[in-house]
Amino acid sequence: MSILPDKSKDWQIQPLNRKGLHLRYSRYFIPTLKEIPAEAEVISHQLMLRAGMIRKLAAGVYSILPLGVRVVRKVEAIIRKEMDKSGAMEVILPSIQPAELWKEAGRWNFYGKELLRISDRNDREFCYAPTAEEAVTDLVRGEVRSYKDLPINLYQIQTKFRDEIRPRFGVMRAREFSMKDAYSFDTDQDGIDHTYIQMKQTYKSIFKQCGLKFKVVEADTGQIGGSSSHEFMVLAESGEDTIAYCDECNFASNIEKVSLDNCEFAYDGNHLPMQEIDTPQLKTIGEVSEFLGVSPQKFFKTLVYKTDDENNKAVVAVCRGDHSINPVKLANAIGVNEVTLANEELIESVTGAPVGFVGPIGLKKVSVYGDYSIKPILNGITGANKKDKHMKNVNSNRDMTHVVWKDIRNPVDGDSCPAIGVGKLSLAKGIEVGHIFKLGAKYSKSMGATFLDKNGKEKPMLMGCYGIGVARTIASAIEQSHDEKGIVWPVSIAPFKVIVILLQPKEELVVTTAEMIYADLIKAGHDPILDDRDQRPGVKFNEADLIGFPVQVIVGKKSVANKKAEIKVRKTGKIQDVPLETITDTIISTLDGLG
Ligand code: ATP
Ligand code: MG
Repeated sequence: MSILPDKSKDWQIQPLNRKGLHLRYSRYFIPTLKEIPAEAEVISHQLMLRAGMIRKLAAGVYSILPLGVRVVRKVEAIIRKEMDKSGAMEVILPSIQPAELWKEAGRWNFYGKELLRISDRNDREFCYAPTAEEAVTDLVRGEVRSYKDLPINLYQIQTKFRDEIRPRFGVMRAREFSMKDAYSFDTDQDGIDHTYIQMKQTYKSIFKQCGLKFKVVEADTGQIGGSSSHEFMVLAESGEDTIAYCDECNFASNIEKVSLDNCEFAYDGNHLPMQEIDTPQLKTIGEVSEFLGVSPQKFFKTLVYKTDDENNKAVVAVCRGDHSINPVKLANAIGVNEVTLANEELIESVTGAPVGFVGPIGLKKVSVYGDYSIKPILNGITGANKKDKHMKNVNSNRDMTHVVWKDIRNPVDGDSCPAIGVGKLSLAKGIEVGHIFKLGAKYSKSMGATFLDKNGKEKPMLMGCYGIGVARTIASAIEQSHDEKGIVWPVSIAPFKVIVILLQPKEELVVTTAEMIYADLIKAGHDPILDDRDQRPGVKFNEADLIGFPVQVIVGKKSVANKKAEIKVRKTGKIQDVPLETITDTIISTLDGLG
């Protein structure tokens, strides 16, 4: 199609495409920043601030600006399309919920400080919902009576609040954030199994359409509870989670769910007599290992943990010197909700020794958990539970008969894959963008969400729940796709797919040409923005790259005189000179080519 400006046509004098007037850069609220904001550690946070997408109101509480909202709406549209396709139905549940419901489900106390508790004018207790199992179960138990009404899957995209202990990385770990949460109700195990698989597929489709590289990993069910759970992990260095995956098979798992071997004793050699040695001021394994010339693999690394169980306040965990304890595995092994590293006071009261000299030998007041991998250590080293002393020639089967053996360590690169056992594991950092749980009857039992089956028998509904962090998904896309100039958006979620950069806003031919390209793109169903500002070209180019518009059309005096304009692809930086007759078609085919 030809869009060459033709002065004889009256479209030129009319205000072009009134509908699109608000999409002119000069009228748009995009407060970009030149400098990297000091408060932002990770690249997505820096770029979202610099591109004028978000601003902080309080710790972990962000305003989303117009450009950010456009991305949010695009991600939400993908989520809605796929959720609707799966048969789920959108609802809007209240974000303020009464304490009674949370008490009924047993989570009011269990949820701890992350739950923001509030009271109304009559001193009735409420919370700002961090998730909505209680509210949705209450809704469904009140309305659904018969197996004929099931299955149903309800979802919402709603603000959540979690009073995170360490809000950071901008919207990635915020306190207030928007989550797509869905809750399914089925009559039997086959039903919930089917819904769960369907949601897993739906999530894969959503994240694929958002342009993300991700892995689906097995996960611990944590505070939400239930029997089975998968996380959707975007691979990125800034990820707070570590996942283990196998290159030989499709095994991928959150590290806390990787089952590691129960090593049997594999050494031969003499058990030498245990002996106390002087290690003045040498507290770390690194220091003692260097001092003695013994590798960290021969150390029994011993740590004291505090638990949330009143009757079992402290436990000791032991692993190999070059390994680390996984707190979730440890908590599961003990049967408590949570363990955290003990403070100095607790360490001294349990072991009689200051930090740095703790070992498993002779501990009577606490349970000691040992990781399987320390069993084969021959004549190893550990703290002597005395200041400035260690023990050498420690052997687990002779000296650690009081130890409970469990799988409590983190996997390391090169561990055997637990799936079929042939491959080796690799570790990678990941950002959890989605999480699905098979809850079973956990909430339906405690809250009495039952139905009558075909035989008129009352049964609890079987539930699943499924979450996606909207802004975290956006931040992850930026973590995965950026360069030194700024964001490189996956086209599907770019705030605008195309920017038409008008270089000389006072040159009539340049203006009309740019306006026409812009109008044509809108006519063709695309969402361009027109940079009509009276700014230096350098500023316009830099900002276009910072914000990351996938396709940039540059309309300048020289090229227009030759009946041409330039098309630049953000991802590759490649610039193409294109005749005006074919420019719209070329822009559209370039966009199509970007996926
Ligand atoms: P995390 O382990 O990162 O704290 P979670 O396991 O507690 O997350 P879920 O309860 O599974 O989170 O919530 C579902 C989704 O909501 C997560 O997969 C994530 O995308 C998003 N989400 C959770 N917490 C936050 C947060 N503080 N800020 C932004 N998004 C979040
Ligand atoms: Mg989770």
